Amino acid sequence: MHWGIDIGGTTTILGYLKPGGFEKAAILKTDPPSGPDSLLRRISKAIDEVDKAPCSAGAGIAGLVNRSEGVLVSSPNLPGWKDYSIREKLSDILGCPVVIDNDCNVFAIQAIESSSIPDSGLWLMITLGTGIGGTIIHNGTILYGTGYAGEFGHMTVEANGKNCLCGSKGCWERYAASGALREYYGKHNGSSIYNSPKEIARLASMKQDAALKAFEEFGIWLGIGLANLYHCFSPDGVFLAGGLTGASEFFLAHAESEFNDRCHCAWNVNVLPSGSDAGAEGAAIMGRNRTG
Ligand SMILES: [Zn+2]
Repeated sequence: MHWGIDIGGTTTILGYLKPGGFEKAAILKTDPPSGPDSLLRRISKAIDEVDKAPCSAGAGIAGLVNRSEGVLVSSPNLPGWKDYSIREKLSDILGCPVVIDNDCNVFAIQAIESSSIPDSGLWLMITLGTGIGGTIIHNGTILYGTGYAGEFGHMTVEANGKNCLCGSKGCWERYAASGALREYYGKHNGSSIYNSPKEIARLASMKQDAALKAFEEFGIWLGIGLANLYHCFSPDGVFLAGGLTGASEFFLAHAESEFNDRCHCAWNVNVLPSGSDAGAEGAAIMGRNRTG
């Protein structure tokens, strides 16, 4: 079987391709403090219970991934996991070829395969969650540049801005990802209690002023980054995905308004419908396609 593994900061989802689709086999707690070796052992055990001889495995990881070396370079979501040779170790444990990529790219692979993203033209995919992930897709193919293209979350939007876990400051994801939303909410609510994005969305749906203002500020920063990207790429359009898009009704109009103030391109930003297994499925497709 061709296996796909989606390693996120909180949960790891794995499953395999079957005729006409994808079968989820397990959801594991990633538990970053226990280290990558522990997670790989648990992944191997879960796969072994279903399949004694896997054909291939693909893994999408929330972090900076060196695909050619098969190394997870670093990840704000997986503190302490640094320069880890995940491809080689996983391949040794599973006894099959393994390929790795970052989580946004495997998500895009699933979206391309399922035709959610058109197979002609230039498109950007952006995931909004703990951080901001990005993927550049041209005529159905992901563009990597020298390896790391699409790290939109770390473009500077504020010269002396907030420190980022990547080591820089003023990165876009410090202004338009979940941590920023929580900060805006705390500021507008006059408290230091940082509610979860889900809770802030619930309060916004009840028209709570602080929650609506938090999403407005979030939307403005989203629009600023999107205007930058349109100036750089002039894409046919953008697809948004990731956990925060569930609350897009509260921020997308603000993003569009800010975008229109800064950019003369036509706004074409869509929210990509996707299930929680899309990353693991994309990883499995990647494993099948790139190891064959
Ligand atoms: Zn950064």
